[in-house]
Amino acid sequence: MLTNSQYSALTIEGARVVDPISQRDEVADVFVVDGKIAAEPGVDAHKIDASGLIVSPGLWDIHVHLREPGQTHKETIESGTLAAAAGGFTLVACMPNTAPPLDSPEAIRLVTDRASIVSSATVLPIATITKGRKGLELTDFSSLQEAGAVAFTDDGDGVEDDAVMLGAFEQAAKVDTVLIQHCEYKELSAGGVMHLGKVSKRIGMPGLDPRSEEAMIERDIGLCRKTGGRYHVAHISTAKAIDLVRQAKREGLPVTTEVCTHHLLLTDDACAEAAPNTKMHPPLRLQSDVDACRQGLLDGTIDCIVTDHAPHAAIEKNVGFLKAPAGIVGLETAVGIAAEAMVHSGLADWVRLIEWFTTGPARILHRSRKGIVVGADSELTLIDPAATWCVTPEQFLSLGRNTPFAGRSLLGQPVGTVRGAAVAMMAATARLF
Ligand SMILES: [Zn+2]
Repeated sequence: MLTNSQYSALTIEGARVVDPISQRDEVADVFVVDGKIAAEPGVDAHKIDASGLIVSPGLWDIHVHLREPGQTHKETIESGTLAAAAGGFTLVACMPNTAPPLDSPEAIRLVTDRASIVSSATVLPIATITKGRKGLELTDFSSLQEAGAVAFTDDGDGVEDDAVMLGAFEQAAKVDTVLIQHCEYKELSAGGVMHLGKVSKRIGMPGLDPRSEEAMIERDIGLCRKTGGRYHVAHISTAKAIDLVRQAKREGLPVTTEVCTHHLLLTDDACAEAAPNTKMHPPLRLQSDVDACRQGLLDGTIDCIVTDHAPHAAIEKNVGFLKAPAGIVGLETAVGIAAEAMVHSGLADWVRLIEWFTTGPARILHRSRKGIVVGADSELTLIDPAATWCVTPEQFLSLGRNTPFAGRSLLGQPVGTVRGAAVAMMAATARLF
């Protein structure tokens, strides 16, 4: 349960302020007056006792499928942003593989209009690179950008044609936007439904060759070098792919990447029972790849953590591993899963984890953020780092229940978000009221 309220004045008392943007890490009170961070408490401020909690700049997830328009039985902008708020996110960027796809200014405006009415988080739409996501003809980046598109991708598919992708890079450089590539050559992935390896062979499932991801990244880095267009690798998943991005960054190219929460924790061993909720794209890979994803975050090769939140109806997903659509929901488990992979493993602290959900995604989209400083718009996330909780899909606010983490016990849970004067609080955290 999520409770939405409006407060003209709000005081968050005694939280640990962790703000990688303004470089703050201290216990302090945070005052919000008329939607902005203030130096002093407002008159009759609503008070939240936040001792023991972390307050950070609002978390962002730049890879989310909200399914609207056209697939509202899977998710809507309303349910998806409720799930986002429950997961501690104040902003999500939504993918354009809807029905119809977001390939026209009208379609982009439909999303922004709808989001302005029903959303519990800010929604930034991403437009397609090609018309109808067919990979053949480019969309008009500048009119889409004008309508509100913040990036371009054919996510779900990679843009395979060299000439089309070259044109996309040239347009991206011209309008100063970023191309987000779902890296996969279909010929190399060859109908694979999970990572090609020992487990796929043992259970008799067609395997997906990691080269299908790596080869496209290699091609695209070449195009990036040639054109100067900004390039972002979506849901990176193999050690070699991460190395390619590492080299490109060393070269000074405008290349960034992201990792999904599930790729930080699970390997293809999770697919051993052929459970449909372990099927995703790119697939779960090897422990060496999981280790490389974690290392990539630590050394700055990987810029941010995303969920690739991909809700599906149970009736669609529970049809056996072979036929099930790929993808899992992630918004409501992201912080707990990422904390398990990066913080409780001893690799990083909360400050760094919050960077990967705040400064990292902002840098990729070239958006400036002020953080928790006086005068800035209030955009905050409250996290209880000591809360132990059990993943219960029946309680998700997302319409999707497709998660491989059901029943898993996690340590660390978002408990609320603040956007302007709007406060969304998880009801489980009753002590805050
Ligand atoms: Zn994708």
